Amino acid sequence: MKYVGAHVSASGGVENAPLNAKAIGAKAFALFTRNQRQWKSTPLSSESISLFKERCAESGYLPKHILPHDSYLINLGHPEAEGLQKSRDAFLDEMQRCEQLGLDRLNFHPGSHLNEMSVEECLARIAESINWTLERTKGVTAVIENTAGQGTNLGYTFEQIAYIIDKVDDKTRVGVCIDTAHTLAAGYDIKTEEGFTETFRHFDEVIGFAYLKGMHLNDSKKDLGTRVDRHDSIGKGVMGITPFKMIMHDSRFDDIPLILETPDESLWAEEIKLLYSL
Ligand SMILES: [Zn+2]
Ligand SMILES: [Zn+2]
Repeated sequence: MKYVGAHVSASGGVENAPLNAKAIGAKAFALFTRNQRQWKSTPLSSESISLFKERCAESGYLPKHILPHDSYLINLGHPEAEGLQKSRDAFLDEMQRCEQLGLDRLNFHPGSHLNEMSVEECLARIAESINWTLERTKGVTAVIENTAGQGTNLGYTFEQIAYIIDKVDDKTRVGVCIDTAHTLAAGYDIKTEEGFTETFRHFDEVIGFAYLKGMHLNDSKKDLGTRVDRHDSIGKGVMGITPFKMIMHDSRFDDIPLILETPDESLWAEEIKLLYSL
C-alpha cells in the first residue's frame, strides 16, 4: 500500500500538522518540528506533544508514515569546528524533538564542503556527525536525502550516500530518502521507463532498498544533470508522469512516506488524488 502526503505546515504548533495533512486527504506527511530558518528553537510544550500524538492516532498516522525534515541551516559536514558544533547541536535538538513526538525518522540534507575540504573528508565528517548524534539519542533513524548537487552540496550520487552509510556504526538507524527532482537534476534520467528502472537498479546495487525510509515526489523545473534544485508541481515540470506512475506501481515503494514538496500547496489535494489514480 502507498502512503502519499505532503510537507504540511506546522505553524501555530506541531499539533496542527496532522490536521493540515488530513484536510488534503494525505495518508502520510512531513513537517518541520521547529523554525527551519533559525538556529534558536523553543522547546516543545507537553501540551503540543500530547495533542500531536492524539491527533496522529485519531487520523491513523503511524510514525513510519511521518517524515520530519530538519532545518536548512544545519551542515553536518561543516569544514570549521564552530560551524560543525553548532550544526551538531541543532541536529541533536531535532532528533530529540522527534523522540519526544514519538517519531522514528528524521530527514536531512547530508552537508556541504564549502570548497574548504575534499569530498571524501566532508563525507567522513558527515558520518562522524551521524555517529555523534545516534550515540546521544534512541529510536530515531537519521534519513539522508539525496541532493541535486547544487553549489557544494554533497549526497547527489548514490555512491556518496553509500560512502557515508558505510562509516555509520549503527546501520539500523541510518536510512535514505530519495527526492525525484533532486535525482533528475543530479543526472539520473528517471523520466523514461528504462531510465527509471536502471536508476533504481543502480540504487539497489549501491545503497540497497532496505535503507529506503521515504521518498519526496516532486516534478522539476530544471532538467537532467543541471544540478539545480527547483521543484515543480506534478505534471507541470520537465519530468512527465512516467516516474510517478512507476513509483505508484512498484511495491518497493510501499509502506514508506511518499511526500510532495511541490510549490503550490493549493494543488496538494489534487496531486495526491492524481498519484493514487495512476
Ligand atoms: Zn529536503
Ligand atoms: Zn526533498
